[in-house]
Amino acid sequence: MTPREVLALIRSKEAQTVDLRFMDFPGVWQHFAIPADRLTEETFEEGIGFDGSSVAGWRQINEADLLVVPQPETALIDPFAARPTLMMICNIQDPLTKQDYTRDPRNIARKALGHLRSTGVADQARIATEIEFFIFDDVRFDQHGHQAFHLVDSIEGDWNTGRDERPNLGSKPRSPLGYFPCPPTDTLADLRAEMVGILAECGVRVTAHFHEAATGGQCEIDLDWADLVQAADQVMLARYVIRSVARRHGKTATFMPKPLFGDNGSGLHTHLAMRKEGESILPGHGYAGLSDTALYMIGGILKHANALCAFANPTTNSYKRLVPGFEAPTRIGYSRRNREAIVRVPIHSFSPHAQSIEYRAPDAAANPYLLFSALVMAALDGVQTKSAPGEPYDRDLYDLDPQINDRQPTLPLTLKDSLEALQRDQEFLLRGDVFTPDVLDTWIWYKRTHESEAVRVRPHPYEFVLYYDV
Ligand code: GLN
Ligand code: MG
Ligand code: MG
Ligand code: MG
Repeated sequence: MTPREVLALIRSKEAQTVDLRFMDFPGVWQHFAIPADRLTEETFEEGIGFDGSSVAGWRQINEADLLVVPQPETALIDPFAARPTLMMICNIQDPLTKQDYTRDPRNIARKALGHLRSTGVADQARIATEIEFFIFDDVRFDQHGHQAFHLVDSIEGDWNTGRDERPNLGSKPRSPLGYFPCPPTDTLADLRAEMVGILAECGVRVTAHFHEAATGGQCEIDLDWADLVQAADQVMLARYVIRSVARRHGKTATFMPKPLFGDNGSGLHTHLAMRKEGESILPGHGYAGLSDTALYMIGGILKHANALCAFANPTTNSYKRLVPGFEAPTRIGYSRRNREAIVRVPIHSFSPHAQSIEYRAPDAAANPYLLFSALVMAALDGVQTKSAPGEPYDRDLYDLDPQINDRQPTLPLTLKDSLEALQRDQEFLLRGDVFTPDVLDTWIWYKRTHESEAVRVRPHPYEFVLYYDV
């Protein structure tokens, strides 16, 4: 869509509001709105000023001004606004220099693609994601979606499990049998169909949706292939649609990686493919039908696996998912079949036309722009330094001889460990000015002070179980 076509769409839909969205640094969509008659063709060039000082991880108060620059190709009618509203995703610029703002995650993703092209390794990075999430009953809202008075500020359940099993125990599938009996056991099929229908109207193609393995409430929606930046835009749009449809039905959706102890967590498995002049560079005659280039891409992801976790698993809760026994990866390896390895070569991709590498570590709390950029930079480094990925792990990594198992490298155990890994291993991200030192320093500082340390110094509910009566 061109700016002129956006203005025509506003007229034809009689939209009164233009909603401008952008990604903050940690990974939450932010927005503000303008009356539709304020939007002109010039706005797409000049942008609109706003105060960036209160946006997490952005400018200090003394240099707070930033510009949002709406991107016409992202325009769509907001499916949830009560009055006709056109929404657009924006890039962020510095008003003085008119340069793209270096801490804008979308700008980083655009630079990652530009850098990939400049190396000549590939001209397209294609991404497909599997979005897992939980739907819970929303005790905070009444049936009209209004904020109810009985706000709860703690989980009134079992401190051991974090879940309240008192109501409806018999009507929920027992874990891991959520994957995937028909309705009426799957009570969320209609909700997901509504989400997928709205996504289709927004131009987001879905390849499958189903109930996932955890007890009643875990769902998965798989998005079709898209180019790097658009794939990240679509993950954000999908989160918005999933959360809004849940809210419409008096429920909440959460992408928190591990909401329930003792049950499966939620991942954001990320499939990566690269093309050059329209041809996939992945098929070849090596392991699992992969080319040398594809094996080097895997080598790069394994080599930088620890640092990548700082973007793929960016919360303290992420590391409660990366434990054995729940289909989440724990070991740094690759395999055709074994889902415990962080990289898998899916069977369906043996056909040269569908070839892909599945990176299974990420969870849905990740900032998709930063995650996809870091993943492409790691794969690219593997190609440029010809990093062989070593032997595949084709046995079940959990069942390996414990001594062999002990020698397999494990993923970081905490957010702190991942941030330290990123501190040590960041050269591959700085190439082509994709991630600047300021961006990495700010990320590490933000995540350490606001999350890792903030959680560390707070008493944990389970500490009451262990220590209250000592
Ligand atoms: N939920 C699992 C994870 O945390 C994945 C389950 C699956 O898709 N096989 O990654
Ligand atoms: Mg899946
Ligand atoms: Mg799944
Ligand atoms: Mg998968």
